[in-house]
Amino acid sequence: MNLKMSVLNLLYPNRCPGCDRFLSAQETVCQPCAESMLVEQNGYCHECGKITCSRQHKKLYYDKAVVACRYDHAAVPAVLKLKKSRNLNFADFSGKILAERFNNAEYGKADMIIPVPMHPSKKRIRGYNQAALIAQKMATLLDLPCREDILYKSKSVSQHTLNAWQRAKNVENFGIHDISVKDLHIILCDDVLTTGSTMNRCAELLKSAGAARVIAASAVTTVLRSEKNKQGEVQI
Ligand SMILES: [Zn+2]
Repeated sequence: MNLKMSVLNLLYPNRCPGCDRFLSAQETVCQPCAESMLVEQNGYCHECGKITCSRQHKKLYYDKAVVACRYDHAAVPAVLKLKKSRNLNFADFSGKILAERFNNAEYGKADMIIPVPMHPSKKRIRGYNQAALIAQKMATLLDLPCREDILYKSKSVSQHTLNAWQRAKNVENFGIHDISVKDLHIILCDDVLTTGSTMNRCAELLKSAGAARVIAASAVTTVLRSEKNKQGEVQI
């Protein structure tokens, strides 16, 4: 580590977003937290991206799903910190895992990565779109363009304040600009996959604009109510 890095590390110590312990400058998540949050490659449905699924999917507009972590254990504070307290380590960590998993799945070379958009006013308040940070990490590692100028969100209602039906309605407020994505192979990236309706709506827009293939990549997939043993749906 050079002197500048050492000084920066003293001023702004690098901490694990899962457990808050100090990390070296190169680390993003400590080993125990990484192990607790990663979902195994065969531990989720590669069609819908959920951990438990009935295999009777509603119409899915994305072709395959790649996920990195389950919304449990250390991933809960890590996602919260990514959204609320500017500890962005989890974006780098999950983006790297997603890039590796996309490559290992042999889905072929993608043309671009598109993050699920955030409403501009919400982005102004937060300062960044966390889905875009994950997408940018993936894009760097996969040597692909990350395009934030294709999809947009026109209304800002926090998903977690809505019930499932309202959520399904709310996702209708995504839109697509008049930019051709004809015949393109696209990775659509988000931070959290809950019901999957957001991913599905964005994929539907891309497909309706001519995209050939959409792979949904999510840093985190939630644990369904049945798996949580009636503790209630996971709130984000
Ligand atoms: Zn940790």
